Amino acid sequence: MEGLIPLSIPNFEGKEKEYALDAVAQGWVSTGGAYINQLEEQLAAFLHIPSAAACQSGTAALHLALRECGVGPNDMVIVPTLTFIAAVNPVRYQFADPIFMDCDDSLCMDPMKLKEFCEKECRMQKDTLIYSKTGQHIKAIVVVHVFGNLADMESILAVARRYHLAVIEDATEALGSQYLKGEFAGKMAGTIGDFGAFSFNGNKIITTGGGGALVAREPEALKHMKYLSTQAKDDELFYEHYEVGFNYRMTNLQGAIGVAQMEMLPEFIRRKEKNYNIYCENLKDVPWGYMLPFCPDTSPNYWFYSLVLHERADLRKIISELKEAGIQTRPVWGLIHKQKPYRDFVAYGIEKAEYYSQRILNLPCSTQLTEEEIDKVIGVLKALFGTNR
Ligand SMILES: *Cc1c(COP(=O)(O)O)cnc(C)c1O
Repeated sequence: MEGLIPLSIPNFEGKEKEYALDAVAQGWVSTGGAYINQLEEQLAAFLHIPSAAACQSGTAALHLALRECGVGPNDMVIVPTLTFIAAVNPVRYQFADPIFMDCDDSLCMDPMKLKEFCEKECRMQKDTLIYSKTGQHIKAIVVVHVFGNLADMESILAVARRYHLAVIEDATEALGSQYLKGEFAGKMAGTIGDFGAFSFNGNKIITTGGGGALVAREPEALKHMKYLSTQAKDDELFYEHYEVGFNYRMTNLQGAIGVAQMEMLPEFIRRKEKNYNIYCENLKDVPWGYMLPFCPDTSPNYWFYSLVLHERADLRKIISELKEAGIQTRPVWGLIHKQKPYRDFVAYGIEKAEYYSQRILNLPCSTQLTEEEIDKVIGVLKALFGTNR
């Protein structure tokens, strides 16, 4: 829309066109080609790990991780309710049942509630955690680093180790977020749990149009998931297959764009941090809300900015008024435990997720955002809410 300050749009200031055209010129456009390998190497180096597997989407990466943990029909997986639904749908692709968990003030999974749930609602049977009410096995936790903010992995992993749960990090929004202190100092989002999933969809910090990547603590597990992602070919020439595979591999066209985007990633993070700080500085004294902080002792990627209103508000009205003024904003996602396909599953003590979902507005955060545009957003917000309550 003419003149609208967009919420979050992709940035192709780098060599995206050059590399994509090169991939076309070479005739390597499908699920084989040098750009895919190059992107995997760039990602692994950036994340300080030995290897990564590029795939077709973050959702596909999460699905492969759940498969690899052995999650199957009637198993249970603990997931957040405050997140994008793609973090949860793959649990159903495996015919397993989600258990919805609340968030804390970081918007990520609340480790205290997670612990309480395992203690009070479950029991151990040999090495397996059992949900007492139904006798189902709980196999894994999907932890999302919401908006690039890091979850408390130290506490979550302590619970996971104690109860023998596999940990899948949904780092789709957190490429580049890093812990600076504690047990995981120096580690990047996605490289702490058993598996990590990344997304390169259009509004993520880097994009390949659609695409994603997988990492794993065990190199053998990563190798196996890569094999599953390429139709599980055991003999390339005679097409022999020992397992049911998927068409989940990234294409070389996507890889070409990804290589260019990875070259820009540090600059994107730098701009996002700068713009976030401008919002914070200008909104720090308003009586009606505040910018949701990123966790201390971390170096986040500042992917998405959340304005938290003190009072519960008519977000629909506010969003349409901001749109009238030329500013695109959005609320957080509808809580997943209340969505039609998920209403009948277990939801444990959901409180903060409700609180925040009624009060958060995501503000424009594209890397192309100019200071004049940020000034405009701040001016319109102040006019809308007043400087007094
Ligand atoms: C974007 C996103 C996904 C899915 O990634 P796609 O690449 O779009 O499949 C999963 N989980 C979360 C939290 C996301 O934000």
